[in-house]
Parts: sequence; structure tokens; C-alpha cells
Amino acid sequence: MKLNMFIDGSWQAGSTNQTRQIVNPANGEIIAEAAEGTTRDVEYAISVARKTFESGIWSEKTAEERAEVLLKIAQKIDEKQEELAKLETLDNGKTLREASYDMSDAANCFRYYAGLIRAPHGETYHVPDNMQAMVVREPIGVCGLIVPWNYPLLMSVWKLAPALAAGNTVVYKPSEVTPVTPVKLFEIFEEVGLPHGVANLVLGEGKVVGHTIVESHDVDMVSFTGGTETGRHIMRTAAGNMKKVSLELGGKSPNIIFADSDFETAVDYALFGIFSGAGQVCSAGSRILVEESIQEAFISRFVERTKKIKVGPGLNPESEMGPLVSEEHMKKVLRYIEIGKEEGAELACGGYRILDEGYDKGYFVAPTVFIHTTPDMRIVQEEIFGPVVVFQTFKDEREAIKLANDTKYGLAGGVFTQDAAKAMRVIKKVRAGITWVNTYHGTYNEAPWHGYKQSGIGSSLGTYGLDEFLEIKQINFNLQVEPIGWFKN
Ligand code: NAD
Repeated sequence: MKLNMFIDGSWQAGSTNQTRQIVNPANGEIIAEAAEGTTRDVEYAISVARKTFESGIWSEKTAEERAEVLLKIAQKIDEKQEELAKLETLDNGKTLREASYDMSDAANCFRYYAGLIRAPHGETYHVPDNMQAMVVREPIGVCGLIVPWNYPLLMSVWKLAPALAAGNTVVYKPSEVTPVTPVKLFEIFEEVGLPHGVANLVLGEGKVVGHTIVESHDVDMVSFTGGTETGRHIMRTAAGNMKKVSLELGGKSPNIIFADSDFETAVDYALFGIFSGAGQVCSAGSRILVEESIQEAFISRFVERTKKIKVGPGLNPESEMGPLVSEEHMKKVLRYIEIGKEEGAELACGGYRILDEGYDKGYFVAPTVFIHTTPDMRIVQEEIFGPVVVFQTFKDEREAIKLANDTKYGLAGGVFTQDAAKAMRVIKKVRAGITWVNTYHGTYNEAPWHGYKQSGIGSSLGTYGLDEFLEIKQINFNLQVEPIGWFKN
């Protein structure tokens, strides 16, 4: 498979014809050759996006006209769901079941923003009688969109759908590790007749392609999802022309289990919270905080079930957890496991690369559980982004909240208890933007996805996700047109 860039409505191999090999993480086989973008390619894409924005070919369409295009995109994603899900599994490694959910979420996200852009928005204000004050929303202009590899299509759609609904033009960069479904999405854009130059796809490395987007004075906004360190760099780089920055970053989210929770439900969701997506999920419940009185029973049941998780290639319907996305990322996760051991945490299960026959060319890591941790350990503080969970214990509500908030992150958090008042007391104190009570991970296009602290700035999804891609303008309309007479002569 050859993957090219899509700029100004045409497929291009890039200015140097260089390519990057794209690997199936389940077996190390090369599945595609992707064009490698250069600074020149990005600058060209930005100039096209700028010219197209100013032409008004998209920004001046009615909301209904834009919505119709978005609905066609959703329809095409649905029609190609099976093919797209399979490609996502081949490229990212996630199980086919997980990939299929992503595809239907992606189609629904386009549908949601197709509807939302036609809903009333803007406000009027009560001001003195001779004036009418109002607020209208307008597209920002050229938006740079940069996404990670863990949900190659879905994270892209969380940005592309609202950015396009709002009337912007975009320069978009998927992760260099997982460009396959993003390219397929741009084939859909072409099929449904999105005007040329509205959405431009540039492939390649973050330091080159991503950096050029962020640095450009011709880009009006950058919406980024990825690691916190990259986010920090983006914030600094974007300062050049004071472009708006929206950042969805990493997490180290607490999942708090009280003794009065429904035991089997809590175990089940705690497993789902950390091991779905092989732990490569920003909101993963990677710290399980369990009340001391049930710690033994809870950890023992959790470990028993962890050992039974079927790890295997995502395309195998029996597999419940796939490989990690790349060899480089697997090495990072394995290194963290070593750090945990060196720090004195106890390995309750897992902790190794799976090298059985049929697995040895893939990047499979056994689901790993660390117990007897202390809050200062790196494995407790830092995002590992793999199938590795750390247990912490607490005596009471106060201590649970203190531990829950004791990292630099604030993305997500869960609480399990059958005491509704306690659940509400605790969840209100958790400093995180996405929280769950007696459940984990479920989220909807309608509700905002938002990080506190070093987990981000701004929001995805919901009405907030659309507002990220709109400017607000106040208009003060004089209803009594006569001179003001401020100066006498
Ligand atoms: P990453 O930060 O390494 O890369 C993300 C994207 O940024 C990639 O496209 C990459 O090429 C690009 N990039 C890298 N360096 C850049 C630079 N200097 N300038 C501009 N762009 C650059 O992250 P990753 O490893 O791809 O993804 C994993 C991270 O993403 C985790 O930390 C995870 O928590 C986070 N994430 C967050 C959310 C959320 O909604 N908060 C969702 C998914 C993933």
C-alpha cells in the first residue's frame, strides 16, 4: 500500500519522494510505504489552506451546505466500516472489536457536528435602548490539527469534524506511526466532493511537519492531541504569532474503589479501565486506589482475572488485548517495568514481553500489575501508556482524594461505591475533567472531553469542541444614527 499526501485536492508523494515504512505491530511486517513530508510540503499545504479560506468557498457556505457534506462523510465511514476497522487493527494493533467501535464513533461524530452547526448560536444582550449588542461566531481561519497514534482515525475526527463544521480550512498531520486510516478518510473527503484545499493532509515526522505547522504565522490555531511534553513545546512554539492553542494531553488517572462498591462490577471496570487498548488510552485508569479493608480480596481477584486476559493479534477474534503500537513504544513500556522493580514495587503479574511462537515478531507485553507502591515512585507519577497498572491503598475518603490528586495530570478519574452521596463528594474533589461513577471510559460526542492541570487546555467534543474552532465577535449596532457630539468643534 502506498500512502500519499492530499494537498489542494490532489494526491502527492511530497517534494523529496522519500517514504517511511509502516509496520503491523502484531508481526513486524511492513504494511505500507508512506510519503514523508518536508517543511516545503507543509508550507505549501498552509498556503493552500490560507488561499482556500480566503476564497470563501467553504467558510461562506451555509451551515446547511457544510452539514450536508459532513453527513455524506459519516455515511461513507459507515459503508466502509469493516474495511476501515481492519486497516486500523493492522496499523495500530488494537483488537478488531475496539477498532469497530472507533469507526462507528467517528461516523457519529461527523453526524453530531453536522447537526450542531445548524443549531442556533450567538447571543444578544440588553444594553441601552439606542443600541443592539450581539455576539456572532465566525471560523478562526487556517487550523493546524496534529494527532497521536492511539486512535488514529477517531482522534482525527474529533478535530476534523468540528473544524470543518465551523467553516475553517485545515492542515492536518496524523501520527507518523499510524497514517493508514487517516489517508482513507481523505479518500472519503475526495469522494464526497469536499472542495479542494479545504482539508489538506501532510504526512511525516512531528519535529518537521508538526513543528512547521505550529511555527507558521499563517496558521491561526493549533489543535493538538498527544503527550504533555510535546504539548509544552507546542505552546512555546505557537507563541510566535499568538495563535490559539488547544491541547489534549496525557494522564495518570485514578480509579478509586471503596469497600462498599459492587465488588465484581468494580473489578470488571478496573480491568477495562487499564487494559482496553492495551493501556494506550489517555484516560486509562492506570492507578487503582483501593480501600485498605478490601485490598487483599480485590487485588487477588484483579490479578486472577488479569492473568486470563487473552493477548494476541488484533485480527484474531479470540484476542482481548492486542500488541503495543511499535517496537519503540514497547521498549519504553518495558523500561518502565524495570524502573518499577528498581524502585521496589512488587510485580504481582506480567512484567514481560510475550515471545511465544507466533508472538515473537510482534510487540506484545503481558498485562502487568504492580502492588506495594509508594506515591513518589515514577511508575505512580508518570504516564506509562501501556498495559501496566499500579495499586495504591487508602484508609478513608480524605486519603483517597489526596492520593487521587497527587500527580501533575488531571485528565480522568473514576469512583466505585454504592453510597451515592459519597460518590458525589469524592468525584467533585477529583481534579480531572472526565470522571465516572461506577463505570469507566464511556464517553459521548455530546459531552466535552477536557483535561485539568497538565492534561490539557481547551476541550474536544460537545458544544465546547465546536467553540474551540470559532472566534466570537461582538457587534454593537447603533439604532439612533446621529452624531455623538463628544468634541465640541
Ligand atoms: P506525541 O506527543 O509523541 O505525538 C503526538 C503528535 O504530535 C504526533 O503526530 C507527532 O508526530 C506530533 N509531534 C511530535 N513532536 C512534535 C513537535 N515537536 N511539534 C509538533 N508536533 C509534534 O504523542 P503520541 O506518543 O503519539 O501519543 C501518546 C500521547 O497522547 C499520550 O501522552 C496520551 O495520553 C496522549 N493522548 C491524549 C488524549 C487526550 O484526549 N487527552 C487522547 C489520546 C492520546
